[in-house]
Amino acid sequence: MKPSVCIVVPVYNEEEVLPAFHQRISEVMDTMPAYSWHLLLVNDGSRDASARLIDAMAASDARITVVHLSRNFGKEVAMAAGLDHADADATILIDADLQDPPELMQAFIDEWQSGYDMVYAQRLSRHGDSWFKRSTAAGFYRLIGRMSSVRIPPDTGDYRLLSRRAVLAVRQLREHHRFMKGLFAWIGYPSKAVTFHRDARAAGGSKFNFWRLWNFAIEGITSFSIVPLKLATYFGSLIALAALLRGLWVIFKTLVWSDPVPGYPSLMVTLLFLGGMQLMFIGILGEYIGRIFNETKGRPLYFIDRVTGHSDQGSASTQPPEPGEKALARTGA
Ligand code: UDP
Ligand code: MG
Repeated sequence: MKPSVCIVVPVYNEEEVLPAFHQRISEVMDTMPAYSWHLLLVNDGSRDASARLIDAMAASDARITVVHLSRNFGKEVAMAAGLDHADADATILIDADLQDPPELMQAFIDEWQSGYDMVYAQRLSRHGDSWFKRSTAAGFYRLIGRMSSVRIPPDTGDYRLLSRRAVLAVRQLREHHRFMKGLFAWIGYPSKAVTFHRDARAAGGSKFNFWRLWNFAIEGITSFSIVPLKLATYFGSLIALAALLRGLWVIFKTLVWSDPVPGYPSLMVTLLFLGGMQLMFIGILGEYIGRIFNETKGRPLYFIDRVTGHSDQGSASTQPPEPGEKALARTGA
């Protein structure tokens, strides 16, 4: 039997690019007839014609299965839904917007066949990006590399291949705050980078904005490190020690020279500095407590509206137990 490969694609409002995507991906699948190919499209609650489009694609192409989520859950959860339903020897994650070249899949598969469980695309050039974005990204990877025990490769996205056991491993990570690059690195298994030069966008503008990247960085750090929580302990201890020494000095001065009240400015500076530090660390605590709150609710990651197309893959039995599973309405399965 041919080894099977499943391509998982999160789709959210991609009506413009879907026909071109189907075309490009079909060409790539056709160039590798030694494998049995599946295309698993996860409709993440698209509000445009995407749902209709991909259902039509599935009707005309026996390789396609579509999982429609009950609403928009975000790309990370859509990918998790895709991984839950993929049942193949290797699974490839790719965006629908053609920013990552599907032609790289050949190299992915070669590396997978030579024994790697995780093969990821790594950008060699960031020509399209500004100096600011490049340097903040580099700083972020240095920081998170230092703070957490897993090594997260820089300049990678979600475009990658996972072996069957890597998929089974990632499936077991049911956290709601899903910093995917971290999760992929966390499972361990032998990984290999395939480098490529990323083209600038063919059309449209990047959705990059500073606020989004900032939140992404906080998500990454809080999901994979508790160093920020420890900082408060060390800063606090240092300041307390300094305060103690200073206090002794003040008492000594008062006793020996009976000094009058010292300056108002130094008092203000100390007060404001300490107040600021305390608020900052309460904020850091809040970041973690908010995540504890979200995780302890123990909600399922997503709900499925319906499954269409030819889903001889994606059997429910391979899925981790999910409380929401009962509510699934499956059609066409
Ligand atoms: N996507 C999704 N759910 C969302 C947002 C995006 O499934 O809520 C999909 C989208 O259809 C695309 C991929 O995730 O296939 C990457 O999205 P986008 O290109 O907007 O992200 P960027 O490349 O700018 O990080
Ligand atoms: Mg994109």
